[in-house]
Amino acid sequence: MMSAVIYMDNNATTMVAEEVIAEMTPYLGRLYGNPSSMHTFGGQVGGKLGEARARVARLLGCLPEEIIFTSCGTESDNTAIRGALESMPQRRTVVTTRVEHPAVLSTCRQLERHGYTILEIGVDKQGRLDIDQLADCLTDDVAIVSVMWANNETGTVFPIEQIGGLVRSKGIVCHTDAVQAVGKLPMQLSDLPIDILSLSGHKLHAPKGVGVLYVRKGTRLSPFMLGGHQESGRRAGTENVPGIIALGKACELAGATIADENTRVRQLRDRLEAGILETCPGSMVNGDPENRLPNTTNISFEYIEGEAILLMLNRFGICASSGSACTSGSLEPSHVLRAMGVPFTAAHGSIRFSLSRYNTEAEVDFVVEKMAPVVNRLRELSPFVTA
Ligand code: PLP
Repeated sequence: MMSAVIYMDNNATTMVAEEVIAEMTPYLGRLYGNPSSMHTFGGQVGGKLGEARARVARLLGCLPEEIIFTSCGTESDNTAIRGALESMPQRRTVVTTRVEHPAVLSTCRQLERHGYTILEIGVDKQGRLDIDQLADCLTDDVAIVSVMWANNETGTVFPIEQIGGLVRSKGIVCHTDAVQAVGKLPMQLSDLPIDILSLSGHKLHAPKGVGVLYVRKGTRLSPFMLGGHQESGRRAGTENVPGIIALGKACELAGATIADENTRVRQLRDRLEAGILETCPGSMVNGDPENRLPNTTNISFEYIEGEAILLMLNRFGICASSGSACTSGSLEPSHVLRAMGVPFTAAHGSIRFSLSRYNTEAEVDFVVEKMAPVVNRLRELSPFVTA
């Protein structure tokens, strides 16, 4: 028996793990104290926040005091870029890539309107970053380089150690949006040349509304949110206590399941991809075949619309996405696929499947079985395909 929903849209958001719900629930109810309060009732909540901070730090391989809790990945990205510019007013340039999430790209576009210089590095056909172009951009006017660790649409993983090494060797602050990488790729930040990193709870089986900014000890970064003294004055605002506790537990679980992610989940993804490529003519994978997140596949189906495929899959309870969640619904092809030079006819018909540890082989086989009839039916209706 198939479950009602086959959820393969985990790069958009994930199911909150049962263990995470159990851990956070008391803090939505009877343990509602404010961690900043002087009394024991609030203080016990503060202790639990400390435990969550240590759990996040363990997953990232960094010090607990390098963790700042935020409200989401978007806030973390905004804080990194704006905070770096604010703390180095003599530097007026930001270097980033053409395939970043809108949390970075829209921030940079606004900064450009305010007179900053934004340099965007391109990628090749497989989504790999042009490292030579990056090297050429690293002048002493650059305040921060912001390069994502893994792409949300294609799963392409950038060589972050090489990038960080290059950036740091010029004395420039290196930020990485690791929203899609944390929990999927093992990491030890203490050994990596990265100064600032963003992550988001709801991408790793914690609830929405909580994120993290890792700031390496000694990195100068002005706060973005001003107000109270929370997070040692680095991010004001009363903490999302249940969310932070949930994120701590989710990080602990991610540490325990990361091996499964890179073996079983990867095999499921490969089985799905191979099944679809074999049964659907005119289909091709977008992204770097070698350096890719274990859970993600982005497949183009020539001459048909991704949105039409999604609607037909939806009838079978299959949840996937076309482009990023933020751009789906618009008829513009994804900026990531455009940056890779994917032809228009293929970029329009691209679907992203993103799996999680909760997916099964039976679900993968069900999706493969449904894909070919859906694609064939839409090709019959396509004005671009002649008999
Ligand atoms: N960065 C990347 C790479 C993402 O995939 C996302 C969400 O899709 C974000 C940032 C934004 O994170 P949040 O939804 O927590 O604001």
